[in-house]
Amino acid sequence: MDLLKQTLITTTISDSFLTAQNITLDVLRLDLIHPEVSGNKWFKLKYNIQAALDQHAESILSFGGAYSNHLHALAFAGKLFGIKTIGIIRGEDVMNATLTDCIDWGMELHFISRSEYRTKHEDEFIEMIQRKFPSSLVVPEGGNNESGRKGCEEIMQGINLEKYSHLCCAVGTGATFTGIIASSSKTNHVLGFSAIKNGLYLEDEIRKHTTKENWTMLHSYHFGGFAKRNNELIFFVQQFKAKHHLELDYVYTGKMMFGLYDLIQKKSIPSGSTILFIHSGGLQGNRSLQQEWLK
Ligand SMILES: *Cc1c(COP(=O)(O)O)cnc(C)c1O
Repeated sequence: MDLLKQTLITTTISDSFLTAQNITLDVLRLDLIHPEVSGNKWFKLKYNIQAALDQHAESILSFGGAYSNHLHALAFAGKLFGIKTIGIIRGEDVMNATLTDCIDWGMELHFISRSEYRTKHEDEFIEMIQRKFPSSLVVPEGGNNESGRKGCEEIMQGINLEKYSHLCCAVGTGATFTGIIASSSKTNHVLGFSAIKNGLYLEDEIRKHTTKENWTMLHSYHFGGFAKRNNELIFFVQQFKAKHHLELDYVYTGKMMFGLYDLIQKKSIPSGSTILFIHSGGLQGNRSLQQEWLK
């Protein structure tokens, strides 16, 4: 099953401060792989959808916030592969462009309170959902399960790994980072930029799935927490776009690029490094900024 012909495009960023430190920065453009199912999400969904089709599940059910890139991608993929999708949304009184797309693509939405949502990983809650939707394949939030991680091992296919000293990846649930680590070569140092506050537990999650040691997680570029942003971040993302004609999202890749620039400026990344920055997409979520400004 293939949604995309994986033509991998990389864009080289030229900036005088990179040249000064003899640093090469290439961006792997997963944001360009598909107009709707962009970034890392297709990789995480691929084997989940395959599993749903194989077991003749009636639908695929998953969870997310109101701007979830994961649910957005799932809704479109469901439409494409002819399988019903159900989205459990955090928050009871929300509607926006992301959810409107989901509805247009046939996803059935259920809204639950934030406090109820917080219990969603608990077995009891999953059991309750499974009882309510018995013929649904339940995929955890962000597509973070074995199928999701397996799909993410394919992200680097076709990349000449020997060319890079560093691979940079944004981390939400860690499924993508885990896949990148699995497919990395010994000479790559894999940097994971946490998009969430208090994300240290993610390192334990990662260790459950790898024995490799060639990775480091950065925890100081979350800007106050998941999906939080301030003027400094907004300015950085907009400046970056103006200068390099490359759009970043505010939840993951914008924070990661900000962090990477900071590390380079602080010389925490040695001169002469060759860096591959994985642009994991998420640009549909930038519509939240417009929505905020319209208020
Ligand atoms: C979902 C997402 C991530 C995080 O992926 P995980 O596998 O959950 O860590 C990173 N970047 C973007 C743009 C995303 O939408």
